[in-house]
Amino acid sequence: MANDFIYAQPVKIFFGEGSFDRLDAVLDELKVRRAVLVCGRHFAAEASLLQKKIPQICAVFSDVEPNPQLSGAAEAAALARKHEADAVIGVGGGSAMDTAKFAAAIVPGDAPAEAYFRGEKPLPSQALTIVCVPTTAGTGSEVTQVSVISHGTEKRTMNHPSFMPKAAVVDPLLTLTVSPYTTMITGLDAMAHALEGCWSKNHQPITDLLAAEAVRLILENLSAAYRDGSDRSARAALSYASLLGGLSFAMPKTAGCHACSYPLSENWHLPHGEACAFTLDSFVRINADKRLEELCRRAGLSGTDELAERIRAFKQEAGLKTRLSDLGEVDIPALAKAAAVHPLMKNNPVPMDEAALREMFEALR
Ligand code: NAD
Repeated sequence: MANDFIYAQPVKIFFGEGSFDRLDAVLDELKVRRAVLVCGRHFAAEASLLQKKIPQICAVFSDVEPNPQLSGAAEAAALARKHEADAVIGVGGGSAMDTAKFAAAIVPGDAPAEAYFRGEKPLPSQALTIVCVPTTAGTGSEVTQVSVISHGTEKRTMNHPSFMPKAAVVDPLLTLTVSPYTTMITGLDAMAHALEGCWSKNHQPITDLLAAEAVRLILENLSAAYRDGSDRSARAALSYASLLGGLSFAMPKTAGCHACSYPLSENWHLPHGEACAFTLDSFVRINADKRLEELCRRAGLSGTDELAERIRAFKQEAGLKTRLSDLGEVDIPALAKAAAVHPLMKNNPVPMDEAALREMFEALR
């Protein structure tokens, strides 16, 4: 029998090929009257067409960059205020969805965006309605109350109920155009979410099950989508796995591997997925225990050694950075210190202090 737990998942999920074609019906169901659509440049042309087709879309903000900046979220919020919007739709990878979530949360407030970013002002109690539409298969942001925003070089992961979307429209067809490199790093990001949700100190029996299925699907489909981006069956499996990955970590939160990803992204500009992948196989070996062995068995593997090897093989297949020497000059004690003090490190099941992290990074020299 499972131990006691509390589980909640408040996002209504519309999954399937072509589900994005019914965005207008989703907006109707949520009683949205005026929505700002937030996206990156890859979706800008399509967003303008959509604005002509769907009357509720009153404005488009299409300037979201990877590692989205606070200034972009503030601009999107200003646009929403100007148009008296009651909803924000984020269409894109994690960068666009997180920008939409942060903008929606601050619109009803009167403080500058930076005050909310720094936590100097509490977020307004009621956000605008948030609808998320992922176009990568990785972050799971469509089902989390997390928004990751940067201000200059400072990257903050903010966790608040106001960031929780009301609906997620997950249409695998939107991911067909993702490049092979982004396919690989986002797939490994989804793998990291599933594994970290599972080994997090706050893991739950329901999220353990979701994590195992996400890992199984990623192992079976990531190379296929990497080699042939038009493989619809692999793309659909990865979109589903990414959604499951998001649900796996939404309540337990991530742990050591994500804690290490922040200094790796901030100092050496590794994209989020590649930064997570950098230490993921190391943490599989560090955190290997009976429960992780059980996840491996459910995912069709012989055990944690095989899981670590498969992750390493994915990284090699796409030529991702695997050694500190690939990053350039690295001050290992400083890197270990930055990772050790990250709050997510506290969720790691095996205590990782500076000395333990130094040892891990020395092995990756
Ligand atoms: P991304 O959103 O930064 O997108 C990467 C690149 O792919 C961009 O250039 C984008 O324009 C392009 N792109 C996106 N979809 C495309 C498509 N269908 N076709 C062609 N190009 C496309 O990358 P990401 O990995 O999805 O998101 C990373 C961000 O999400 C990071 O800031 C990370 O910290 C954050 N994140 C958030 C959560 C959360 O729960 N909120 C979880 C994990 C990561």
